[in-house]
Amino acid sequence: MRRVVIVGAGQGGVHAASSLRRLGYAGELTLVSAEACLPYQRPPLSKAFLLDADPAPVEFHDAAHYESIGATLVLGDPVTGVDLAAREISLASGTTTPYDHLVLATGSRPRPIRDLHGLRNVFHLHDRNDAVALGARLRGARSMLLMGGGFIGLEIATAAVQLGCSVTVVERMPSILSHAVPPQVSDFLLQRHRARGVRFHLGRSVVAHDIEGDRLESVTTDDGARLPADLVVVGIGSAPSTELAERAGLVVDDGLVVDTRLRTSDPHVSGIGDCVRFPLDDRLERLTSVQHAMDSALHVAKQIVGQDSPYRPVPWFWTDQAGVKVQMAGAPRAEHDRTEVMSGPASGRFAIRRYRGDRFVGGTTVSMPAEHVKMRRELAAELAPPRSPATAVNAS
Ligand SMILES: Cc1cc2nc3c(=O)[nH]c(=O)nc-3n(C[C@H](O)[C@H](O)[C@H](O)COP(=O)(O)OP(=O)(O)OC[C@H]3O[C@@H](n4cnc5c(N)ncnc54)[C@H](O)[C@@H]3O)c2cc1C
Repeated sequence: MRRVVIVGAGQGGVHAASSLRRLGYAGELTLVSAEACLPYQRPPLSKAFLLDADPAPVEFHDAAHYESIGATLVLGDPVTGVDLAAREISLASGTTTPYDHLVLATGSRPRPIRDLHGLRNVFHLHDRNDAVALGARLRGARSMLLMGGGFIGLEIATAAVQLGCSVTVVERMPSILSHAVPPQVSDFLLQRHRARGVRFHLGRSVVAHDIEGDRLESVTTDDGARLPADLVVVGIGSAPSTELAERAGLVVDDGLVVDTRLRTSDPHVSGIGDCVRFPLDDRLERLTSVQHAMDSALHVAKQIVGQDSPYRPVPWFWTDQAGVKVQMAGAPRAEHDRTEVMSGPASGRFAIRRYRGDRFVGGTTVSMPAEHVKMRRELAAELAPPRSPATAVNAS
């Protein structure tokens, strides 16, 4: 393999480039970013980054790092086309770059509400520019209306409260984060946010927007409540960035579809991170987490240097909100038939473990990081191939 091109220089793309070199890949390496700045981490953007007018740097590496690993970093020049037959990409600047293997690491982006596009008091949070704009606005705001009670939105709500802003959340489901955490954790977080003054309209949908000029003045919910909108954050989930893959003719179905080797429908193209749907626990799953971006990046790098194995990750995720760290381990939708609670919500530190029969399939911890690490180890041990008798004897 002489030429590897990676499209997207986020969590997955950057880790794939570094991993390739660490694993001994010696060919040409090109990392293309649509963004003009040095590649950076996203998790801090909804947390500490919002609190400070002069936040800590979030870049993965300085420019010298990319030189040191012999990667050509192309910034501010989105890839506009992939020619699978010719094996080359074209960039917005008009240049083309050939590849022997292409890695698509294009990430995901927030789902928009079409009617609210371009309004000056309505914000999404996806990239660093969004975080700079939102932080500046939050630091002067009196109130914030959050549409959607997902992870990123509730982290922003936490920062807003810290900045002295009153926060109102409208969430369609009757509980927060119900798709991702057990009911005990959802209730616990709800109580903590409420104790900090956050008001919730749960099980309610926004049915009308009152827009004047370029501002959203208020929204009306389906129970007739009219909620004023000083500053509005839309946090209703994300969609995979797959337009490029679709245009190229790769199979896309709510994500770039990849196999157990993370190969797309073209054997010379792999996909990693937020943009892919991959086989996990007998179904195609899309994960939007640092863990999956990093693990899938390393996996594809290994494939490229000839270390073949199926991608079988231990999914994990964390969120910092309402003053606590919540950590999840295991496939989010892994079926289970019983749960065990360790400690209890009243103590402020607790864990929920999920089982299918006797098998541990995943768990959620609140302020119990050591237990989270233990859960990940248990899940990894389940995945490890059984040791051969000879290995077992040698190891004992
Ligand atoms: C505000 C925020 C907070 C988060 N907090 C957490 C957290 O606490 N814990 C956690 O586990 N995860 C968190 N995440 C999720 C995590 O950051 C993502 O899962 C991870 O960044 C995904 O990595 P990726 O490489 O797939 O995509 P990204 O890191 O999003 O990178 C994709 C890159 O591809 C670029 N790109 C797209 N199309 C093109 C193109 N055509 N040409 C060139 N470049 C292109 C994009 O501009 C982007 O820079 C958070 C995400 C956000 C936005």
